[in-house]
Amino acid sequence: MTDCPFCQIVSGRAPAQILYRDESVTAFRDIHPIASTHILIVPNRHIDSLNTLESGDEALVGHMLLVAKELASREGLAEDGYRLLMNTGAHGGQTVFHLHLHLLGGRLARFVLK
Ligand code: AMP
Ligand code: ZN
Repeated sequence: MTDCPFCQIVSGRAPAQILYRDESVTAFRDIHPIASTHILIVPNRHIDSLNTLESGDEALVGHMLLVAKELASREGLAEDGYRLLMNTGAHGGQTVFHLHLHLLGGRLARFVLK
């Protein structure tokens, strides 16, 4: 998916403030943060949304959660807490159709349910 903004970030063709990367996921700061910490965790492989996840992707999604936990800890959010959010489809508020997990922590700039 050459025109997908998150595929472009994963492949290094578009800039992002990358915080974590391994063979299956990449995490970077959201360009329009709605909280003092706002990080996106995405699979390196293009998946449109939760709707197109398949049997066999369980480990990938579980890994996304563990990376979120690790980044929350690194960002100093573990004690006070944080929110994970995955929007699915237009009515779910999804605007970028490459699966992503929002990690939101600290002061919320605005209500997160768009
Ligand atoms: P969603 O509405 O759940 O699809 O969230 C998409 C998120 O991606 C929004 O919070 C955007 O601010 C963020 N976003 C879009 N383009 C970029 C980009 N190039 N770099 C970082 N974050 C982005
Ligand atoms: Zn993509």
